[in-house]
Amino acid sequence: MSKDTKLTGTIIAAHGRHYLADVNGEKFQCVTRGKKTNVAVGDVVHLKQTSNDQAVIEEIAERQTLLYRSDQYKSKLLAANISRLFIVVATEPGFADDLVSRSLVAAEAAGIEAHIILNKTDVAELLPRARERAAVYAALGYPVHEVSAKADPEHALGVLQPLLAGQSSIFIGQSGMGKSSLINLLVPDADIAVREISAALDTGKHTTTFTRLYWLPDGGSIIDSPGFQEFGLYHLSEGMLERAFVEFKPYLGGCKYYNCRHLAEPQCAVLTALADGKIAKHRHELYGQLLHESAQTLY
Ligand code: GDP
Ligand code: ZN
Repeated sequence: MSKDTKLTGTIIAAHGRHYLADVNGEKFQCVTRGKKTNVAVGDVVHLKQTSNDQAVIEEIAERQTLLYRSDQYKSKLLAANISRLFIVVATEPGFADDLVSRSLVAAEAAGIEAHIILNKTDVAELLPRARERAAVYAALGYPVHEVSAKADPEHALGVLQPLLAGQSSIFIGQSGMGKSSLINLLVPDADIAVREISAALDTGKHTTTFTRLYWLPDGGSIIDSPGFQEFGLYHLSEGMLERAFVEFKPYLGGCKYYNCRHLAEPQCAVLTALADGKIAKHRHELYGQLLHESAQTLY
């Protein structure tokens, strides 16, 4: 390819301000113009080639969806154009409902379909309790898929492959849930890909903690973000937050005050539903906490 050729590619890795774009299988180290860092893994970008394997990002194509990571009371870009978000939980170690719900809120706010994967079903003694906890999310309409990456990889593949085909997915999970085990099943050459990407990213040191996108053999992709802690939700308005809790929806028109925040107001339909056990307490508590956090960032 000659210098100055215009190219279109997908950002497949990001580490700080180092980006890697994939243009029909060819990899380009990319920089942004000026100090802009508004590029995310999954972005479709228009590039201007500057050398054999280097390019400048000229333009970011319109995004279908956008997810943010939390960064000291700020929201920073995590991934673009995701169509399905998979939250990996397990029978053991125990998972945090707070983190599951934060992920669900992020997905709702971005307009992304969220699924839960309950891994390590082979740990039989802890399965009933994990199922019971996952059932809270199933009742809200989020599909829960039971797998065991270790004890029955064939079954796990049979469950997950159809869900991933043709989709742009992201896998999220607390450490220890088996996210890497599942990704290694789904992307057999993931280790090789990571080494190649690490070398091509040229961050000056070989690291494996960058956010990356894997192409799936049958079409579609998976984004993995090792070390990912928490979604950034600071950019959500109060209106977006209340709508991101899907179980509030039937009650939102029923409060006495049109600008009800559903925290302590009299004749609040959401609080009535909470008292009636129709809304899980830990979900409403998180809602209050997120409202508080988003207010903090205004000052
Ligand atoms: P990650 O931190 O979420 O990426 O988790 P890993 O994939 O590294 O797995 C954490 C630990 O759980 C490892 O010791 C795995 O061998 C183990 N593990 C993963 N999947 C399963 C499973 O289905 N059943 C059991 N019993 N252990 C599993
Ligand atoms: Zn209310």
